[in-house]
Amino acid sequence: MAKHIKVSEEDCIACEVCVEMCPTTPCVFEMQKLTAVAVHPALCESCMLCMENCPTDAISMSDSEDIFLDIGEI
Ligand code: SF4
Ligand code: SF4
Repeated sequence: MAKHIKVSEEDCIACEVCVEMCPTTPCVFEMQKLTAVAVHPALCESCMLCMENCPTDAISMSDSEDIFLDIGEI
């Protein structure tokens, strides 16, 4: 199953570390204005480099979109 990846707009400081770290081609992330957005989550190789190196812990991942929906509704 493809990963579901989210970046918190509130927490992202647009440092672009995740874009630089991500090994996929094309990169899973793209900068859109001042936030990184996971535009190709299906390419994710689960290396965790983005999450480990994001300075503000803005990135979250799940195998299930439902989990994100549940969190968003709390
Ligand atoms: S876990 Fe690795 S492959 Fe997946 S988005 Fe993050 S850096 Fe890219
Ligand atoms: S590493 Fe974190 S703070 Fe930096 S651009 Fe990516 S999501 Fe935003």
